[in-house]
Amino acid sequence: MSTQFAVIGLGRFGSSLASTLYEMGEEVLGIDSNEDIVESMINQTTQAVQVDSTDETSLKMIGITNMDVVVVAIGEDIQASILTTLILKDLGIKKIVVKAQNDYHGKVLEKIGADQVIYPERDMGVRVVQQLITPNILDYIELAPNYNIVEIAVIEDMVDKSLNEIEAFTKYGINVMAIKSEDHLNISPKADDKLTEKDILVLIGHINDIKKFEDYFHEKKK
Ligand code: ATP
Repeated sequence: MSTQFAVIGLGRFGSSLASTLYEMGEEVLGIDSNEDIVESMINQTTQAVQVDSTDETSLKMIGITNMDVVVVAIGEDIQASILTTLILKDLGIKKIVVKAQNDYHGKVLEKIGADQVIYPERDMGVRVVQQLITPNILDYIELAPNYNIVEIAVIEDMVDKSLNEIEAFTKYGINVMAIKSEDHLNISPKADDKLTEKDILVLIGHINDIKKFEDYFHEKKK
């Protein structure tokens, strides 16, 4: 059986999450206390219902206990967010993901048993800054604080050069994990593997080293 998702709180974040899950073919129950919001989400969810999630009986009545994953995306009303999380925990929901407004809110949510606490605004801010300071980077994953896996497009100056020649490791201490070509993924490439146009390098390293490496090629590109 497919995973059953519920999203409580259909504000900007919750509605985007719910509609994206729905577009991806997942079963999504959307829940909000505001009737107009529920109305507007009917065609973007499997089902949308008007319920105050701080009311345990109502949550049970709409079948919340059948859900595998429940996302609590209530923002401003921190009390309602905490109380909802407590109720979901009591009801034995397997995975509870909660959006936190700030660090204190997040800490409380962790203490009461939220399986995952997310900070979408803060994380998006960090992501946008990363993209602003390293514009050649196509995508990245934060592996640990200050250590990222990044995808960077090969520029003209790198074409026909080997990994050794671009000195990612020797000069910048960055490891090249893979080279993505249009039709091939070269995992753990060798030092003498050459780069071609349109290749994408998948690198792992400290963000400062990646930035220095990226700056160097940005200069070359000009
Ligand atoms: P966003 O930034 O995602 O738009 P937000 O952080 O500003 O959201 P709110 O707008 O305060 O958060 O809340 C998101 C949604 O949660 C709103 O649509 C609101 O109606 C709904 N909501 C608030 N309290 C409850 C509750 N007790 N039960 C169900 N829904 C609730």
